[in-house]
Amino acid sequence: MKILIVEDEKAIAEVEKAYIEREGYSAEIAGDGLTGLEKFRSETFDLVLLDIMLPGMSGTDICREIRRGSNAPIIMVTAKSGEEDIVAGLDAGADDYIVKPFSPRVLMARIRANLRKGASGEAGGSELITVGGSLVIDPQNLTVKKDGCEVSLTRNEFMILSKMAARPDKTWSRDDLITYALGYEYDGFERSIDSYIKNIRKKLSDPRHENGFIRTVHGFGYKISE
Ligand code: CA
Repeated sequence: MKILIVEDEKAIAEVEKAYIEREGYSAEIAGDGLTGLEKFRSETFDLVLLDIMLPGMSGTDICREIRRGSNAPIIMVTAKSGEEDIVAGLDAGADDYIVKPFSPRVLMARIRANLRKGASGEAGGSELITVGGSLVIDPQNLTVKKDGCEVSLTRNEFMILSKMAARPDKTWSRDDLITYALGYEYDGFERSIDSYIKNIRKKLSDPRHENGFIRTVHGFGYKISE
């Protein structure tokens, strides 16, 4: 497993690298955004640890660029605990975030969890799930097709959609989705769920399904809709 660290503060980058290597993974450091993006494009990485405040190009922009061509897990590292930064990162396609200063144990737990999500079809069963005849979700290959065309979702978007689609009878609270779709380790807040749902809808909606196959149940949460 190889991890790309994009971080302009050398001391932090070195500490991250040391902990990652102690776990038996390899890591490379890029000290600014453009270098990070170039490195990502020229080599193969299994996960990206991405600082938000970077010289040249922001972490959020890099995240968006990476997402154009890759589903590799991205963990945003942010110095501020400001919700806006975090929501922007998740909107740009990040899978997770961690707030500085963080403990090495938390960092490694997040890395392991995201690598695991990437490696296994954690969506539940292995059978195809269909919604309304036009949406086909493949939990084994983590793919979604709409009218036969593949739609690119981030891992967390996929987890949320597939969990909901597997139980079309159930209305999911935001808390349920954090717990059952993203995992107990996910330290997300409810607004991040709204942000994922918004992205899924943007990717799936069409004139026949303006709500992107997801119905809002006011005062409670979300439910799959055909
Ligand atoms: Ca920084």
